[in-house]
Amino acid sequence: MSALTKLTLKGAIDGLAAKDFTSVELTKAHIDAIEGARGLNAYILETPEQALDMAAASDARRAKGEAGPLDGAPLGVKDLFCTKGVRTTACSKILENFVPAYESTVTSNLWRDGAVMLGKLNLDQFAMGSSNETSYFGPVTNPWRAKDSNKALTPGGSSGGSAAAVAADLCLGATATDTGGSIRQPAAFTGTVGIKPTYGRCSRWGVVAFASSLDQAGPIAKTVEDAALLLNSMSGHDEKDSTSLDVPTPDFTQFVGKSVKGLRIGVPKEYRVDGMPAEIQKLWDDGVAWLKEAGCEIVEISLPHTKYALPAYYIVAPAEASSNLARYDGMRYGLREEGANLAEIYENTRASGFGDEVKRRILIGTYVLSAGYYDAYYLKALKVRRRIAEDFDNAWTKVDAILTPTAPSAAFGLGENSSDPIAMYLNDVFTVTTNLAGLPGLSLPAGLDANGLPLGLQIIGKPLDEGTVFSVAGAIEKAAGFTAKADKWW
Ligand code: GLN
Repeated sequence: MSALTKLTLKGAIDGLAAKDFTSVELTKAHIDAIEGARGLNAYILETPEQALDMAAASDARRAKGEAGPLDGAPLGVKDLFCTKGVRTTACSKILENFVPAYESTVTSNLWRDGAVMLGKLNLDQFAMGSSNETSYFGPVTNPWRAKDSNKALTPGGSSGGSAAAVAADLCLGATATDTGGSIRQPAAFTGTVGIKPTYGRCSRWGVVAFASSLDQAGPIAKTVEDAALLLNSMSGHDEKDSTSLDVPTPDFTQFVGKSVKGLRIGVPKEYRVDGMPAEIQKLWDDGVAWLKEAGCEIVEISLPHTKYALPAYYIVAPAEASSNLARYDGMRYGLREEGANLAEIYENTRASGFGDEVKRRILIGTYVLSAGYYDAYYLKALKVRRRIAEDFDNAWTKVDAILTPTAPSAAFGLGENSSDPIAMYLNDVFTVTTNLAGLPGLSLPAGLDANGLPLGLQIIGKPLDEGTVFSVAGAIEKAAGFTAKADKWW
């Protein structure tokens, strides 16, 4: 039955519709694959019984002719999405035993459309990280390895579990979130497709908050079309999130395969950063050539404030995190460590419940928001954020979409950057800009480096223009013909 796990989401949905197999068969195949891949540590909670119940219910709906758009498709859920009655931890000790009494809007939308939940996926603690190494449950190992090497590589982060599970065929697609690159960088490191939609496209309700003005949910999938299918279901207005946009959701799949002839594609010169490996520049050049061939006009553009994006992000994100994480006080939910008085309970709970990286963010965030430093750091970062958004506004008068690499390197080794936070933060250099500006960004695999590791290209779009992003991604996917998979060693 392992062939069933090799299907794309679209292929599986077509197979279910044609009655080639049932959702129970498809789900069982994935449950077996997950059991055989525990060494990757992608799932931190498997829910096989619930999955089989959902699959049986799906088969019953289909028999009655009532199948929804994702009916019977088994998916993984990043453990940042609250799932009713199913433990949700944000991969932190402080939420180790937290069982939500409610379901996030995004996952509710997926179940409404018939999808099946296989379990909860590993991530960096509170989604803070670029390598999945800050997880309380330990790192995820990337299914990819360099040629002739047994060295364990990171799948990227924070959605490392989601990306690894999709790459290793442990689900047909997964939910993920992206505050500064956490959908796109793991997608690039694992040869998968990930899209962070426009801020407000997907509801944040029931998603454990990291930095509320930057956080967005989105899918990680095997193909551009699969990502479009998942985003169709995940999107939509939600009155429970005041920043959710009240706009219609187009059928994103209609844009995949659409001609890109005549589109103007921007190539920002500031993204040619020092020390970028030649192979990444080459991949970017390939992307430009493919789009030219498909009839696009390539325009060199300038996004002059790009160099300030990373420092601004690493002020705004921790500032919001320090505020959002104030709720973990040992009183309302999650861990409580006893103490002689209230202040001691807070201190003991937070000292024992949060990991080092989370504490670092809380310290930075509290510092940049404190009296005397607020103007110099936080306010300044907000002004830079505005300038970055204006750079993009300016670009949109000249181009329809922007092409960049997703990350400055291929997947690196576990442990390689974990003792140097600045080196880790540099991973996000190409991805944080879209979060600061609220724009959609998609990463798709476009080639392999000399070590046989996948590399990703990023397409950035205008606000709410995921459609064009999907069209451009479809064109690159077709031209790149990327079909490589990790050799199974696990
Ligand atoms: N790597 C970035 C960070 O650590 C982004 C994380 C994310 O997008 N959740 O903040």
